[in-house]
Amino acid sequence: MEISNKIPFSNPKFKDGLTPLQHKTVADVLSSRKKIIMLNAPTGFGKSPCSMTIAHHLNYPNQSLYLCSSKILQDQLAKDFTEAYQLKGRGNYPCTLLPTYNADRCFQQCDEYKIGDIDCAYEDAKKEALAATFTILNMHYYENETNYVGRFSKRKTVIIDEADILEDILIDFIALDIHPKTLEKFKLDQPKYVTKLDSWKEWADKALKILGEKVIKLKAAEDHLDRESKLELNKLSRMCLKLNMLKNDITEDWIFEHSEKFRFQPLWLDTKLTQQYLLKHAERFVMMSATMLPKVIACKLLGLDINDVDYLEIDSPIPIANRPIIYKPIKKLKYGESEDEVYKETIKIIDENKGVRGIVHGVSYTRAKAIASLSNRCIIHNTYDKNEKIRQYCDSKDGVFVSPSSERGLDLHGDLARFNIIPKVPFPNTTDKVVSKRIYSSPFGKLWYRAVTAQTITQMSGRTTRGIHDWSKTYILDAAFDSVIEFTPKWFREAIKVEF
Ligand code: SF4
Repeated sequence: MEISNKIPFSNPKFKDGLTPLQHKTVADVLSSRKKIIMLNAPTGFGKSPCSMTIAHHLNYPNQSLYLCSSKILQDQLAKDFTEAYQLKGRGNYPCTLLPTYNADRCFQQCDEYKIGDIDCAYEDAKKEALAATFTILNMHYYENETNYVGRFSKRKTVIIDEADILEDILIDFIALDIHPKTLEKFKLDQPKYVTKLDSWKEWADKALKILGEKVIKLKAAEDHLDRESKLELNKLSRMCLKLNMLKNDITEDWIFEHSEKFRFQPLWLDTKLTQQYLLKHAERFVMMSATMLPKVIACKLLGLDINDVDYLEIDSPIPIANRPIIYKPIKKLKYGESEDEVYKETIKIIDENKGVRGIVHGVSYTRAKAIASLSNRCIIHNTYDKNEKIRQYCDSKDGVFVSPSSERGLDLHGDLARFNIIPKVPFPNTTDKVVSKRIYSSPFGKLWYRAVTAQTITQMSGRTTRGIHDWSKTYILDAAFDSVIEFTPKWFREAIKVEF
């Protein structure tokens, strides 16, 4: 199909249209006939205008739906693509009827709204979003709406941005959490043996009978229920769906955790879960990310049939000279061993990069503190003051932002960062129950462990050198990088220079 290079949005910054690389990508996606198209598109490629154009062409004249992972990203997109309508979750809109509440305290339209006595910020926004030609939602909201409410379902093609975190979002949505307070509220005893799945299945059977009766009674009186009872009916109905899942679908392969609540979550997604919670809601999906895992791993992780997927890996438009990855294998860092040599090298690199700003990925607070204590240029944050410290860093002349948690979402373009240090390879924490069960229960788990580590390194490196005219150096100092290099994208590997 012949397509123009026009970006179908009026923002003057898109007046030059698609770049040749974006244009080719749009054409490649449009020529695919698969149910799922994965786009591994690096930082600097200009993913948003390209994906918005893809959404337009794939859906026109039908409505387009674009999903992103966070409200911040939703706001950014809505600012750039002003013709698109964005809808957020209920909690973001005040309730007109009860001004001290937000709309998340209501699950159905109130009578006052239905008869037109009042406006409702959420219901009005949703009505517009459902009618809009182009709508931007976040993934959590889409999951909730399509699975529980039934709206925004049956769209032709759904675009999913930042699809590298889609697996986490789906697993979290599918997981069953049972809080002791819920048991107390509905006068339900705990199962006889809380560590045994059979006991939980028996318990689910009994609980379903008790809660099912309450649902039937409330439904019979639905037209006359007060607000709190309607809320309770909604919560009970959702709880019953989850209990049915516990009774019929949860197997010994799932992870069971008991801390302040009981939690069941699938160890991995499989085709049945992904079909039920995602794929059945649209004809086709375009999944994009700057750090998509290799095709085989991404498909297995998302419970997708590899034959249903086309995978496009796009080259970086940023010259290699502008984004060198300098790999200095100082030492293979192992748990409990001294990291002093690596810290020394980190400070040496900071000192070599005089008069410019840069970032150090500490991976843990302990390590970040140890590094930050070695140079007065370092600016470190804690859980509460990250935004304030980012501002302080951006206002500095030659600050070094030392962070254990900035592998995503931080845009240090241009002079905001000219160097990027990864002292330690960020392997997932093996004391985490999910991580350890994944690694020790299957060969795929071991592959996954290395692949997601490579993905995090690519994310970390992507905080700097944000566009084709931008530049920065990334330094990797942990010799354990050897074990994950093969999982990094081609454009990343091409930029690696080893220095001893
Ligand atoms: S529908 Fe009525 S009760 Fe519900 S959020 Fe809107 S104004 Fe409030």
